[in-house]
Amino acid sequence: MKFGTQNTNTANKRVKQSFPLRDPNDPRVLYVLSDRARRISLRVKNADREVHVVVPGVRAFKKAQNFAREQRDWIDVQLESLPEPQPFIAGQEILYQGQKFALISPSGRARPRIVPEMKKIIVPSPDAESFAGRVRRLLIREARAELEAASHHYAEKLGKRVGKISVRDTASRWGSCITRNGEGHISYSWRLICAPPFVLDYVAAHECAHMIEANHSQAFWDVCDSIFDDVKLAKKWLRNHGSVLHAVGADF
Ligand SMILES: [Zn+2]
Repeated sequence: MKFGTQNTNTANKRVKQSFPLRDPNDPRVLYVLSDRARRISLRVKNADREVHVVVPGVRAFKKAQNFAREQRDWIDVQLESLPEPQPFIAGQEILYQGQKFALISPSGRARPRIVPEMKKIIVPSPDAESFAGRVRRLLIREARAELEAASHHYAEKLGKRVGKISVRDTASRWGSCITRNGEGHISYSWRLICAPPFVLDYVAAHECAHMIEANHSQAFWDVCDSIFDDVKLAKKWLRNHGSVLHAVGADF
């Protein structure tokens, strides 16, 4: 009897290790194991343009597969209603600082640059693959410059100091802040460079305000309002258009 239990455990363990598991018939569907979940559920992941099927334990896998199959129409509707992808391909347009900019790939070895007057992002590149990577790096560099400037600006208004600033591709949050030894360590999504500048500013002000209030209480929003005028407008923009930011750089 004991052996039987052990065998099942080993088998379960092996199955567990194979998660997350992509659906062989639908690459947009990913099965994610969760010990905390109590039931099977679907989660649309805007950033990855896929749907996660939350599986509450290995034993529920078969049932979860059937469930995902039954919900095929719903999955189609959710994923097809996501904003159009804006891949990093020469000749395409992407959102940059809230406006459409054309991606240009001239020959030659000039430095990549952004020309706001012409709404062009010019990135010399030998081939399509390195083009996409170069565009991405350029956007991250620009994002970092803008986010650093904005962070220092709003921190100064609050009489606070910013420590480390990280710029990465965060999936669920535009920014986060922890305070250590009186300094705010802030992490941002590089995608904020694609939003209108007042939205990037708002996120920086928001994270800096967390150096005073590490929560989302009324006191926190009062601090936010004291250093940034258009909190409501910026929040509304992110609510309505935030998913567009995740479409930047996504492939067709
Ligand atoms: Zn916050």
